[in-house]
Amino acid sequence: VVAASDINKSFDEVQVLKNVSLTVSRGETVSIIGPSGSGKTTFIRTLNGLEIPDSGHITLNGEVSFHRSPNQQSDKGQLPRADQIKNIGMVFQQFNLFPHKTVLQNVTLGPQYHGFGSAKQLELEALAVLDKVGMADHAYKYPHQLSGGQQQRVAIARALAMKPSIMLFDEPTSALDPELVGEVLRNIEDLAREGMTMIIVTHEMAFSRRISDRVVFMEEGAIVHSGSPVEIFEHCDEPRVTRFLKDFK
Ligand code: ATP
Repeated sequence: VVAASDINKSFDEVQVLKNVSLTVSRGETVSIIGPSGSGKTTFIRTLNGLEIPDSGHITLNGEVSFHRSPNQQSDKGQLPRADQIKNIGMVFQQFNLFPHKTVLQNVTLGPQYHGFGSAKQLELEALAVLDKVGMADHAYKYPHQLSGGQQQRVAIARALAMKPSIMLFDEPTSALDPELVGEVLRNIEDLAREGMTMIIVTHEMAFSRRISDRVVFMEEGAIVHSGSPVEIFEHCDEPRVTRFLKDFK
């Protein structure tokens, strides 16, 4: 579904991504783990154009969405294509719901903007995705009437309403009180089981181990190691990975 190769990105002379390459196939769940500041968030943001790489190549569903060679100076024609990016759903650490819109309106907004159907049809579809994350009963409430976990579940529904071919999660439970983490992780786990293609940046190691087909470890802007959950969490002898995981035990 998505293939990124040799992605480089610097902020103020500091190179935060160094030749990062990752391919995720249809139905795969890949989690990205690693120390704070290792570039995990920046990397997934390059996939949907929220960060523009200094150089690299990205294809989405087999079509080039971004290309810039290392010595290319001009920005011209380098923005990722909007028609492709709408196929990527993203869930952020902060839920970013529109405060003055109801739950239902938050979910229908994107599909409406893109003309995905009549108002009535989009409303029914929105209720169906809200039901999927257990939030249909709250459709007419406003975000401030919901817990953080519930808001995040609405944010997941909002992304799903766009019928994306891949979902990106950027530390989706980091802003939540501990007792609310489980309900959000369960929603994501359900999606994994249904075969949604996903990339998840997370600090929840048990969750990563449980749901991932593949785990990618990043450090200092590079992918240092990747493998199955068993390879990473049980049999890895790469010192940087074991050192990192020891802190979570
Ligand atoms: P965390 O787990 O703490 O979220 P991360 O692995 O996701 O960390 P990033 O958020 O991608 O790491 O950050 C990588 C580096 O890039 C950090 O040093 C960060 O300070 C820097 N950085 C990120 N965004 C910007 C920006 N917009 N401007 C300048 N520096 C930035």
